Amino acid sequence: MAGKRGLIMGVANDRSLAWGIAQAVAAQGGEIAFSFQGEALEKRVRPLAESLGADFLIECDVADPASMDAAFATLAARWPTIDFVVHAIGFSDKNELRGRYVDTSIENFAMTMNISVFSFTDVARRVLPLMKAGGSLLTLSYYGAEKVIPHYNVMGVAKAALEASVKYLAMDLGPENIRVNAISAGPIKTLAASGIGDFRYILKWNEHNAPLRRNVTIEDVGGAGAYLLSHLASGVTGEIHHVDAGYNVIGMKAEDAPDM
Ligand code: NAD
Repeated sequence: MAGKRGLIMGVANDRSLAWGIAQAVAAQGGEIAFSFQGEALEKRVRPLAESLGADFLIECDVADPASMDAAFATLAARWPTIDFVVHAIGFSDKNELRGRYVDTSIENFAMTMNISVFSFTDVARRVLPLMKAGGSLLTLSYYGAEKVIPHYNVMGVAKAALEASVKYLAMDLGPENIRVNAISAGPIKTLAASGIGDFRYILKWNEHNAPLRRNVTIEDVGGAGAYLLSHLASGVTGEIHHVDAGYNVIGMKAEDAPDM
């Protein structure tokens, strides 16, 4: 990643998937600008950024078009060209991340899709002028896009749309040598994940059934992220790359369910 620079969106703290990717990118010599959502998170993100030698922090609420305008103007003013963007952003009302999907409200459905899906397409369009020499865009998905995971509900529907967006964006931006991929990460205990009902059980179930018999870490996600952002993945686009200790390949789960 030496000589490459880009924007990482979605670091909330040192447990964030985006932080795992940032550390791996920095270890490979990449230069990073960080966006953060609101002042409260800036206090957490700034010291993390500084620990990687980064001083370019940009406030950005993806749900607010004025904030997006300002953020990408700030980015372009200092860095007129960039090589990569990581979008590690998702949000839904946690009251609807338990119980039945069928009870999802229109308000939360629209908000979840806006923040967790549309924002990636919006970011892609906004960085196009900064990627004249090509680039790599990466977002984060989850297996709940493909199969029903209890309590994941509207977030699963959003991730399915996000994964479809990756493929459409890959087709649109391929002629400009911009690659678009997603990592479908296994469950990891983060701030966002703590909003999902019975998340501890999902973690146990994954650990018990995954071929590697463990859960993945943000370091696992970081390594795959750095690969997808780098020239090592120069022929890879439109890909949903599982980093889940192999969980997605299992057809029959173990008969003895783990204890709650
Ligand atoms: P996290 O809480 O550390 O990160 C979520 C980030 O989204 C935060 O930085 C938050 O500020 C940001 N965000 C939410 N709404 C925003 C808005 N309106 N504007 C700007 N930023 C906003 O949790 P995480 O688990 O690292 O989540 C990152 C991504 O990884 C999400 O897309 C999540 O769905 C995905 N993912 C997580 C897991 C997991 O088990 N933790 C598994 C697969 C995929």
